[in-house]
Amino acid sequence: MTRSGRRGSTRRTDEEAERVCARCGRRMPAGAPADARWCSAACRRLKLQEVDHRLEADMRERLGALSAGATLCPSEIARRVGGDDWRPLMEPARQAARRLVAAGVAEIAQRGSVVDPSTARGPIRVRPVR
Ligand SMILES: [Zn+2]
Repeated sequence: MTRSGRRGSTRRTDEEAERVCARCGRRMPAGAPADARWCSAACRRLKLQEVDHRLEADMRERLGALSAGATLCPSEIARRVGGDDWRPLMEPARQAARRLVAAGVAEIAQRGSVVDPSTARGPIRVRPVR
């Protein structure tokens, strides 16, 4: 396993754990082999790059530093990691957010309510699991 960053303090039970793609963090498709790591040919081709690990580590750090009730936008992390060339990192930042949900570290919300990371469309906010 190549999960980056330190282990979160919030450990999930096996029952809560859900099999998700190691890149995009979306639920694995029904019928995927038990040992499959990637949900699609695209995710298998890209795997996890150095920048993906940096996005995830930075998001984890920022989530830990948020004041109570605060949330962050994936674009903030894309900007922090990518600088002027942050736009190509928007989807990778959203993928990092989904991986942190799968790790039990974060929640993804829209209009203040937790949403399903696999199906949420449009702007999202990320907040720590408390
Ligand atoms: Zn995937």
